[in-house]
Amino acid sequence: MVSNCEDIAKAVINPFACCDVWIVSIKDLDVREAGFFKGFMPKAQTVVVLGHHVVTEEEWQWYATGDGGEHCAADDHAAAVCDVMQQALRAHGFSTEIVPYPRESGLQFRFLAQAAGAGAIGTNAFLLHPEWGPWIHLRVLATEAPTERKKVGERAQVCNACGACVAACPARAIKEAMFDGLRCRSHRLAKGEYIPVGPRRELRWCAICAQCCPIGERPSARAMTGEQITAV
Ligand code: SF4
Ligand code: SF4
Repeated sequence: MVSNCEDIAKAVINPFACCDVWIVSIKDLDVREAGFFKGFMPKAQTVVVLGHHVVTEEEWQWYATGDGGEHCAADDHAAAVCDVMQQALRAHGFSTEIVPYPRESGLQFRFLAQAAGAGAIGTNAFLLHPEWGPWIHLRVLATEAPTERKKVGERAQVCNACGACVAACPARAIKEAMFDGLRCRSHRLAKGEYIPVGPRRELRWCAICAQCCPIGERPSARAMTGEQITAV
């Protein structure tokens, strides 16, 4: 009989070759993340981290929506897989909630992904998957389903400390020992990156620190439509 979170989650993810899933017990999380789940879903025992492998630039292109939100194809897909995951866990009798995304929860998914063993956070502040590199889109669920997974021990290093992201960042927001998120955001704000562009309301966010990273394979470039070229 299937009765733990891993077995259910792995069965759900199996048909989705572009995705993988990692599990971590809430009691094994750091104080900040554990505190979030205490408020979000007090009876939750386990966090399910879903990762979608991004293989084209188009699927990670974000668009502003009319209601002030934003979406991209990678997130639409990950959200749909989360729905299937939620239904499966609930069908086994485990209350399960999807953590709202984007920009609603305040929770940084990369810390959960690292705690769950999906990879390790690199100098560029991305969660680096050992094979996919920074090209992983994360989503998170909380569930009352128990886990038998033991705490992840010492994290294997994925970043090779090559320094490419440090040198390439136009805002000088990346240092070997620290990522200055405020500096990154200020630079992008000043460049108008948060203002949608063109009829499709594209959000053209800086991705230099992911694109220059040698871990994983850079997604295939977008084919610009005539409409997009006009909007540049
Ligand atoms: S997103 Fe751009 S500005 Fe921000 S840290 Fe990366 S390279 Fe620097
Ligand atoms: S570019 Fe180099 S230093 Fe930066 S995250 Fe990737 S591997 Fe690490």
